Amino acid sequence: MSILLSPEHLNELATAFGSPLYVYNADQITEQYKRLTTAFAQTDTRFFYACKALTNIHVLRHINSIGCNIDCSSINEVKLALFAGCTPNNVLYTSNGIHFSEIEEAKDLGVHINIDSLSNLEKFGQKFGPHYPVGIRLRPNIMAGGNMKISTGHDKSKFGIPVEQLDEILTLVEKYQLNIQNLHIHTGSDIKDVEVFVKGIEVLFDIIPHFKNLKSVDLGGGFKVPYQKGDGETDIDLLATKVKEAFDNHPNPNGQPLQVWFEPGKFLVSAAGYLITEVNVMKKSGDTVFAGINSGFNHLIRPMFYDAYHRIENISNKNGKEANYTVVGNICETDTFATDRSIQEIREGDRLVFYNAGAYGFEMSSNFNSRFKPAEVLVTNGNAQLIRKRDVLEDLIKNQQIN
Ligand SMILES: *Cc1c(COP(=O)(O)O)cnc(C)c1O
Repeated sequence: MSILLSPEHLNELATAFGSPLYVYNADQITEQYKRLTTAFAQTDTRFFYACKALTNIHVLRHINSIGCNIDCSSINEVKLALFAGCTPNNVLYTSNGIHFSEIEEAKDLGVHINIDSLSNLEKFGQKFGPHYPVGIRLRPNIMAGGNMKISTGHDKSKFGIPVEQLDEILTLVEKYQLNIQNLHIHTGSDIKDVEVFVKGIEVLFDIIPHFKNLKSVDLGGGFKVPYQKGDGETDIDLLATKVKEAFDNHPNPNGQPLQVWFEPGKFLVSAAGYLITEVNVMKKSGDTVFAGINSGFNHLIRPMFYDAYHRIENISNKNGKEANYTVVGNICETDTFATDRSIQEIREGDRLVFYNAGAYGFEMSSNFNSRFKPAEVLVTNGNAQLIRKRDVLEDLIKNQQIN
């Protein structure tokens, strides 16, 4: 039996909680996590969910409950992870371009830290020397990922310390006796090609021998998930085989076997999320039939920002005859979700669901046009729980100075 949420179930949820509505299926998250742990059973691995994909604390709690760790992109995400009940040892802060004060805070909270600039590495050395273990985020100069906006490891990227600055890193490590326990790379998102990860590992093998206290290498996230029929995805089993091979062939010269870390975001939560919307108006213009829905890029920006494809289904007319529709939002800005897309016949009032809405969906939403952010619901073992209320007018006003 499929664990995906059925159109009937989604319809019931929209009736109960209103729309637009984000729905997450905890069981799908669990299943994706199991796919990873099963594939990598032969390697000492640790997975950190890159929580910027979706940070609702109920989702974080679920992730924590299934034994997965959490990777954070800001000090606030670190605090959310701890608030959700994670222990500091299960939380990783992979920083990028942050003020040193956030690194100090992360250190006080006791979480793992990856530092991504020579400047912060030096400040860390001055302040803490060898007394707190730390990781280094490297830029491996590898082109990877679905498109330029989501590519982070290439030689023009702002992320990480460029590997060609290894000498400068080693000078700081020596000067401050830094206890470097982790080396990190994250090359991008939507990486289908397993060889890209292998290339990253190969870059690391040249660097690993310089770090005597190393305990882990962190290969980041970016596994590709399928968004539409026929879409490829990262072959996790092949990746596991290749990673094992690579590490078997390069035992750590400093003795300790290295643990392999990954930071999957999308892979864990993308398919587990559904955005349910409703059709406000149908409009014809020449050959185009617009379906105008009660949402926009204020709720799901990926189609406009990344040209991302999200499968759309009319769950009010599952067996309707398919025709071509251009699905657009209701904000004053061009917000086209799909152009001339074949979808079951659409009528005003119908509910359209966007699939793969779990990652970078609600999380990138805004109040643009002073519209409300959607509510969020988590389904666990078939039981639905409201995990975030829909905004109300008060939410738009509460931080403004009224007098
Ligand atoms: C965003 C991010 C990830 C996760 O990327 P996905 O494509 O969602 O898997 C992992 N690590 C770091 C450092 C990130 O910034």
